[in-house]
Amino acid sequence: MTPIAILFLATSLAAQTTPERGVFVEDIDKNADACTNFYDYANGAWRAANPIPGSMQKWSRRWAAGEQSKEQLRALLDDESKKKDWPKGTIDQQISDFYASCMDQSRVDARGAMPIQPLLREIKAMRTPADLQKTIADLHDLQMFAAFGITSASDNHNPGFVIARVFASGLGLPDRDYYLKPEKRFADARARYRVHVAKMFELTGYSTAEAKHASDVVFAMETRLAAAQLDNVALRDPAATDHKYQVATLQKFTPHFDWTRYLDRFKVAPEDLNVDQPEYMGAVEKELRSTPLATWKAYLAWNVINNAARHLSSPIVEEHFAFYGKYLSGSTEMKPRWKRCVEGDDMFLGEALGQRYVERYFPPEAKARMKELVKNLLLAMGDTIRGLDWMSPATKTRALEKLATFNPKVGYPDKWKDYSSVVISPSSYWENVEAGLKFDNADSLAQAGKPVDRGRWGMTPPTSDAYYNPLLNEIVFPAGILQPPAFDVHNADAVNYGAIGVVIGHEISHGFDDQGAQYDAQGRLNNWWTAEDLKRFHERTACVSDQFENYFIEPGIHHQGKLVLGESIGDLAGAKIAWLAFQKAHQTKPAVAIDGFTPEQQFFIAWGQFRGDETRPETQRLMVQGDPHPVAKYRVIGPLSNLPEFAKTFGCKADAAMVRPADKRCAVW
Ligand SMILES: [Zn+2]
Repeated sequence: MTPIAILFLATSLAAQTTPERGVFVEDIDKNADACTNFYDYANGAWRAANPIPGSMQKWSRRWAAGEQSKEQLRALLDDESKKKDWPKGTIDQQISDFYASCMDQSRVDARGAMPIQPLLREIKAMRTPADLQKTIADLHDLQMFAAFGITSASDNHNPGFVIARVFASGLGLPDRDYYLKPEKRFADARARYRVHVAKMFELTGYSTAEAKHASDVVFAMETRLAAAQLDNVALRDPAATDHKYQVATLQKFTPHFDWTRYLDRFKVAPEDLNVDQPEYMGAVEKELRSTPLATWKAYLAWNVINNAARHLSSPIVEEHFAFYGKYLSGSTEMKPRWKRCVEGDDMFLGEALGQRYVERYFPPEAKARMKELVKNLLLAMGDTIRGLDWMSPATKTRALEKLATFNPKVGYPDKWKDYSSVVISPSSYWENVEAGLKFDNADSLAQAGKPVDRGRWGMTPPTSDAYYNPLLNEIVFPAGILQPPAFDVHNADAVNYGAIGVVIGHEISHGFDDQGAQYDAQGRLNNWWTAEDLKRFHERTACVSDQFENYFIEPGIHHQGKLVLGESIGDLAGAKIAWLAFQKAHQTKPAVAIDGFTPEQQFFIAWGQFRGDETRPETQRLMVQGDPHPVAKYRVIGPLSNLPEFAKTFGCKADAAMVRPADKRCAVW
């Protein structure tokens, strides 16, 4: 109960207190059986009554709330835009002028592909290898990461310090498998992609024949690059991308790229850096050495066109959407322009817009309540670790040491990013986008060579999501997710623990999943397990991996257990520790039945209602291929079918579909 509610209870006995909110009763599919398919039971009625809007790939109360936040941002920006004389360089001037420039569709349309012509001309004019390298750097400055990319990240072996990080990049299709695998869905995507690339070249001024040729050349080069990249499953192993290099060593390895000049351009000191995929950089070296400049020109031009497409005139935006939005993701229509403009404002000026967002929409009591929930979840994780029967005291001590260093962040940063150097004008949208991209890139690279700044956030305040960062051991919950159906100050505890509580538990558990367990209390990639305990841990995680490997989204297409392992461990452990935390809270403040549902039932239904969404088949295919998160259906069914507490709560028989047989039941934490 909030302090306000307690005060109300004490002073006004005559009036009824606002009853605490339970689950969304009307969302439950009463024809579904909780023990057979809890995903259908928990919110099947809501999903049946609320088909996915054409512009969305997933839909549920949670996603609807995310879109609702964009309506709030729109109202905020409309209000800000009423005042025309904000002093130049203030965040109000920046966020409202960015929005205005984006909303000026007729001007954006009139300019066509003109905004990117200077870049395309620069590419065309390249004559020498030095020109090529300069142009690659110019593209990277705009976060158009052709061939490879650069950013900054904590040093795996000294996480208090930030170093530059070179990563593999530069493919137009989602990942390497799309270029290389023989299955029909990949072959179809390749054929469609090649047509799309040619169309885009035409839309930016190439003749039909030139465009076709450019598309062929680009596709061949991307296929060579793809062949040298690791796949999504391999990339889950932090050790696979842990390669610290001296610049001189990298230089010897890739002699056709001048790293000193490149790093200098980004004001990054020529100190040790991490090269995620050294073998891939060998493939880039080969392209630099032997690929004709004409091929590079087509490839770089495509990188510019594809990266800029969403911000150019309507025909280009529409063709871009036809391939990525419609064909690959299954959406049937684009989001309205105002929403895309709000999203852009959040993307480029997120901590400016976010300041105004939290002032208006994020109540301080939500932050206080959330902090209490996080504290209780951390305590429950501690109890869980202490109670494990398969872990030795030595490893438990290390696990608890790690848990003690967790740093929770709630709502918004204590210190906001300083955007004062970003020039935003109300009339030149593309130039604003460029300014935003350059600022973000420079802001990230400026961290390299310095002690880590623990105040920085990886998501903006209005984001409806949460994350864990293993190097800083922090769990982060932006204001945007702290609303129904995840959380509400008026919710019964059972509902908050079942929804946001499981999310908090999930993020905590990431510190102890297949990846997180490899980082120690200081955030170093460093084994803290005894050999015997690590073996037992791997046996337990293999159970979860096998479970998800057998979940199909359609005939012939199933999850890759190893790809979704970390998220699935997170859900399983998250549900368990949220349950324990709720049981504990329940002891001091007894929960009551609401609308005929026991507190225990409310807990699990809240998870099903928060997590269960409807996802388009096309998007599900993209997810099983590249997303470490399982599809929503299995994020509801998977963890709960492993929990005896769930079976008991709903009185499920031992052979029910939602009850995994005892010898197959997974429990990691
Ligand atoms: Zn996660």
